[in-house]
Amino acid sequence: MSEPKNYKEALQHPIFKTITKASKNLQLESYVIGGFVRDYILQRGTAKDIDIVAVGSGIELAKEVSKLLPNTPKVQIFKTYGTAMLKAGDIEVEFVGARKESYTRDSRNPIVENGTLEDDQNRRDFTINALAIQLSHKNFGAVLDPFGGLEDLKTKIIRTPLDPSITYSDDPLRMMRAIRFATQLNFKIEPASLYAIKSHKERIEIITKERIVDELHKILLSDKPSVGFKLLEETGLLHYIMPELIALKGIDEVEGQRHKDNFYHTLEVVDNISENTNDLWLRWAALLHDIGKAPTKRFNKKVGWTFHGHEFVGSKMVFKLFKRLKMPLNEKMKFVQKMVLMSSRPIVIASEVTDSAVRRLVFDAGDYIEELMTLCEADITTKNPKRFKKYHNNFKIVRQKMVEVEERDHVRNFQPPVTGEEIMETFNIRPSREIGIIKEAIKEAILEGIIPNEHDVAYQFMLKKGKELGLVIESQKNLE
Ligand code: ATP
Ligand code: MG
Repeated sequence: MSEPKNYKEALQHPIFKTITKASKNLQLESYVIGGFVRDYILQRGTAKDIDIVAVGSGIELAKEVSKLLPNTPKVQIFKTYGTAMLKAGDIEVEFVGARKESYTRDSRNPIVENGTLEDDQNRRDFTINALAIQLSHKNFGAVLDPFGGLEDLKTKIIRTPLDPSITYSDDPLRMMRAIRFATQLNFKIEPASLYAIKSHKERIEIITKERIVDELHKILLSDKPSVGFKLLEETGLLHYIMPELIALKGIDEVEGQRHKDNFYHTLEVVDNISENTNDLWLRWAALLHDIGKAPTKRFNKKVGWTFHGHEFVGSKMVFKLFKRLKMPLNEKMKFVQKMVLMSSRPIVIASEVTDSAVRRLVFDAGDYIEELMTLCEADITTKNPKRFKKYHNNFKIVRQKMVEVEERDHVRNFQPPVTGEEIMETFNIRPSREIGIIKEAIKEAILEGIIPNEHDVAYQFMLKKGKELGLVIESQKNLE
C-alpha cells in the first residue's frame, strides 16, 4: 500500500469548498476525478475543466452547488448521460453520479447503473485518469488511488485499471486516447496495453470520425506529434485512419538508386514545424504535404526517382481525406490544399533567387506566404550539416528578397494599378475579352519586373497594349 497522500493544495479554488458544502447538505460523498487531478500532479497548469463524481445524483449535486453560488449559475442537464454542467467564472464543472458500466459488442456507449466510487474508478480509461480527491469535510484532500495512478504518473506510464484487452475492446476510442496522452504527456504505453491495441485495432471502425479527428488534432497540437503518429503506425491504427500516410512508407531501390522514406521524412517535418507554429492547420499541411508522392512515384533510368506533379495530386487528395474524415470542407481545408500545392515552390526558386520568381511566389501565396515559408523551412530534413546550412541560407535570401520586392511592388495582395473601368473609359469599349487581355498583360509585366506596380507607368503600358489590339483611344478619336 502506498502511504496516504493529501492534496488539499490542489483544492484552492473556492468552488471546491462550495461543492463540499453542497455534498454535506445532500448527505452524499463527492470527489474531483480525472484530468484535473492528473494535470495538477503533473503541474501542467490548472485545468479549466473539473470533473466531479457524486455517490448519488450528480444532477442534484449540481443544482445544490448552483444554489450556494452567489449568482446561482444555470445548470445544464444532459439527461441521457445523467450528467450536469455549470460554469463558475472561468471554469466548467461537470457532475456525474458514480456509475458502473457494461458494454455491448457493437457500441462504445455502455449500459449504465448506479455504483460506488470504486465502480466509477473502474470504468475510467487509465490509471492516471482514475485518481480521485475526496471533497467531504472529514477527508478533504485525500487521494484515492486504487490502481497505482500516482506511481504511473511518476514513471510516466499509460496503463488501464482493468484488463487492457477488455478496456480497449469495450470502447475503442481509448486506443486513440492512449496514444494521444502518450504524445501529449510524453509517457510510454505499457506493453500489455500496446499489445491489446494491436489486437483490437479494427474495432476503431465503430468510432465516429469526429471523435477520431478530435484525438488527431490533439496529437498534432502536441510538442512532438511524431510520437503519436509512430504509435498509430506501430499499432496498425493508421492503416484505418490515414492509409495515405502508410503509402509513403518504405524505400525503393532500383539500379542502386534509392529515395528517402517519405513517411518518416513527413513526421520529421511535422516535428520541425511544431517548433515554429501552433497553427493546427499549418501542422496539418506539414503532415499532408507529401501525400501525393505515393501515387506519382516513378523510376526513370536517366534521372532516378521522380514524383512529378505530386503537389497537385496531393492537394486533390487533401479534399478526399478531409471528406472521408468528415472534417469541414471550408477555408481551413482550402488553406491546407494551397500549402500542399505550393509546397515545392520556394525550394525551386531558392537555388537561383531572381526578383521575378520571388514576385510570382508572393503573388501566388498571397496572405499565406509566411506560412508557406515556415513549411518549406521545416521541410529541410537533410542530415548533411553543410547542405542543411546552405538550404537555410537560401531561404534567408528568399525572405530578404521577399521584403525588398514587396516594398517596391506590393504584389502580396495584388490590386491591379489600372482598373477595368479605366480601360473601358479610355477606349470607350464595353466589357469584352480585350479588357481581360490588357489586365493580364499588365499583371505579367509587373511580375516580370518590366514595369513597376504604379498607376502612371501601367497606364502608359495599357495604351500601348490597347493599340496592339487595334483599340483607339477615346480622346484621340475626334482627331482622326
Ligand atoms: P483532456 O480534458 O485533456 O482531454 P481528460 O482526462 O480530462 O483530458 P476528458 O475527455 O475530459 O479527458 O475526460 C475526463 C475523464 O473522464 C478522464 O480523465 C477519464 O477519467 C474519463 N474518461 C474520458 N473518456 C473516457 C473513456 N473513453 N473511457 C473511460 N474513461 C474516460
Ligand atoms: Mg477534461
